[in-house]
Amino acid sequence: MRKTFSQLAWLIGAVGVVLGLVNMLTPSASVGNTFYFIAATQLAICVVIGFFAHRPDPRTWMVILGVALFTVAGQTLADTSLPDETLRIVSESFFLVVQILLASALLLVTLRRNGTAILNSLGDALVVALGAWLLIWIGLLQPSLNIAGEPAVISALRGITLATSTIVLFLLVSLLFSEANRTPSIWLLFGAISLSLLGDFLFALDKSGHASVSDRFLNAPYVISLFLASATFLHPSVRSLTHRSTTRQRQPLLGRLVLTTTALVVPLITIALFDPRNQVDRVIRAISLFVLAASVTARVIQAVRTNARTQAVLVKTAQTDALTLLPNRSLMLKHIEEAVDNAWRTGRVPAVHFIDVDRFKNINDSLGHSAGDDVLVAVAQRLTNAVPLSAIVGRISGDEFVVLEPDSVSDIEAMKTAERILECFREPLALRQGDVFVSASIGVACSPATDSPSAEELLRHADAAMYRAKDAGRNCIALFDASMLERATQRLTLETALYRALERQELTLVYQPIIDLQLGDVLGFEALMRWEREDGSTSSPAQFIPIAEETGIIVPIGAWALIEALTHLRTWIDVGICPETASMSVNVSPRQLHDPQFVSVVSEALSRTRVQPQQLWLEMTESIMITEPEQALAALRRLNTLGVRIAIDDFGTGYSSLSLLQSFPIQRLKIDRSFISGIADDVSARSLVKTILAMSDALGLDTVAEGVETARQLEALIDLHCAKAQGYLISHPVAPEQMRNTVISLEKFSQWPKYSD
Ligand code: C2E
Ligand code: MG
Ligand code: MG
Repeated sequence: MRKTFSQLAWLIGAVGVVLGLVNMLTPSASVGNTFYFIAATQLAICVVIGFFAHRPDPRTWMVILGVALFTVAGQTLADTSLPDETLRIVSESFFLVVQILLASALLLVTLRRNGTAILNSLGDALVVALGAWLLIWIGLLQPSLNIAGEPAVISALRGITLATSTIVLFLLVSLLFSEANRTPSIWLLFGAISLSLLGDFLFALDKSGHASVSDRFLNAPYVISLFLASATFLHPSVRSLTHRSTTRQRQPLLGRLVLTTTALVVPLITIALFDPRNQVDRVIRAISLFVLAASVTARVIQAVRTNARTQAVLVKTAQTDALTLLPNRSLMLKHIEEAVDNAWRTGRVPAVHFIDVDRFKNINDSLGHSAGDDVLVAVAQRLTNAVPLSAIVGRISGDEFVVLEPDSVSDIEAMKTAERILECFREPLALRQGDVFVSASIGVACSPATDSPSAEELLRHADAAMYRAKDAGRNCIALFDASMLERATQRLTLETALYRALERQELTLVYQPIIDLQLGDVLGFEALMRWEREDGSTSSPAQFIPIAEETGIIVPIGAWALIEALTHLRTWIDVGICPETASMSVNVSPRQLHDPQFVSVVSEALSRTRVQPQQLWLEMTESIMITEPEQALAALRRLNTLGVRIAIDDFGTGYSSLSLLQSFPIQRLKIDRSFISGIADDVSARSLVKTILAMSDALGLDTVAEGVETARQLEALIDLHCAKAQGYLISHPVAPEQMRNTVISLEKFSQWPKYSD
């Protein structure tokens, strides 16, 4: 429906233009009159249709009515065959009233659409209106004052009307130049009013005696104007004519410039070409020129000021973090640079503290991003309160903050500030969601006057120190020393080498048997990755798995490990090294689990190696239940549906709760080595393991004890009725070629009289 009205509006506008052109080409007065009659009639019809179809608000109604009456009055006025003087006076007065009505309606629309934002376009509009006024004065008004035989009252009325029309022009230009978006109705309205003004101008020109304008040219603009007024009212966008509009993305800068320059230059040229006729003319010209010059100057000052303000806002926004309103990375770097540059003069040792909120991702994942934002704002506040007044706090990315102490005098003083920062997190942060405890890892780097590093370097040093603090167990401080950079470089080398490891076949798997504690039988194996590099050096999984996870290489590497492990199991079953039912445990990192392809990778590996899904255990740490639990849950359910089983690795070292354990589809707990190591001598460790076993039993889960190193630990586990175990005592992880011998030696082990020393 709206589309139909829109098309109809444009069609009517086009018809108006065509009729106007035909009118211009036809000398007959009756054609002009007929067209005018058609235009006025269709306007009446369209106004009624539009009113009922769009129900615009009364202000819109007023505008349209104003335009219509304005145009009709203009036409009446143009009709030179008016009989007597009184009628002329009535028509001139009527015309003036309509002008005033139109000006007020336009003012209302402009104010409603733009609010106070209109002030920005008033300056330009004033210049245009004053320019137009000067032209009107020189070209129309002043000459018409001298028309012989015209009563003074008519001349005066026409003068005021023409002056009012500059106000209409002024409002029209402000509407067009305003920051509000221009809808089709605005354009159509603009067309209607400007054509009507053009008609008046031609008429006044004709009257002034400057030029003789034929009737067909006088009539045509009014005909088009009436059609455009109809189109304005028919177009669906008329509804929003008086609504507060959204701001335009692209401001009409070029259009403004062209129009205001023209409004300035054309009157000046005209003044230069035509001499004043008398003293009054001279005075009016001088005053008008003065006002024009003053408004141009005011406009230029306003433009320069606005520009400077916008510039300042832009610079501030570009250097401020929108969430915490602290300086961002680029501004912090500038501050650091300044502090470092001044250090040699003042003998100070500027210190940079790199602060990373510990486990911020957990907060974001578990409490939601808006809570995460609240934490960051609260942290920013704490930091600002904790540091000395001369220090500058900034947020340089995500959960990373930087504190610059430009006036610090030594490492010791900087460390004291760092301690105060660490201390400020002791108290929980009060969020809308409740209290939250956070801690931070802080890296401190100082810039000694003797060897001043660049701002970037100093920040990198503090960053490297922060990583050291994280490695040392978080919630602590580390002071930068050169060895930390070496570590960072080493890490980079490791990262690059890891990318190539898979294709260079430097990765291998070793296997650690898992045995049944009652019978001593081998039940299965855990696959553990090894990386032997070209130069013969080996890296332990603890070194390279975290890097593989961070970089995402774990996804292809993990897929390879899965196939490799299942292929070995298949071979061992086929050659009789282990029973048909033996299982294979493969470690899986959270990153892999969140890979959308993971489930199909698993099912592909199973079918390629013809291993039953029940024989595959996927081991994951408790963290998967905490970070992005929903996604993990969905993936685990799909794996369970395949028949694959899930084990929680290193159980007891994470933060999982009982309710999580219950809601996740897991089938096995692997008790972490740290609990097993104390089981033989430490009563509390023993009772802890007992509790885990009881809980696991109650939840219907299978249990494996990890890291069994001594016979006494084994004995204790048997006493506690733990069913399964693995560890160096039973077997170290071995290469696949050694598996036959390992399993054979374990057979002997099973005959070992009840596992006693
Ligand atoms: P995990 O899955 O808990 O593996 C057990 C770790 O304990 C292995 O270390 C194993 O060699 C070691 N271990 C076994 N028995 C004993 C013992 O009696 N005493 C001591 N002290 N240690 C024992 P490893 O091979 O260095 O692996 C470390 C961790 O790296 C693994 O812990 C696992 O989380 C991860 N990892 C290993 N291979 C892979 C893999 O293919 N993919 C993924 N995502 N992670 C892997
Ligand atoms: Mg494991
Ligand atoms: Mg483990």
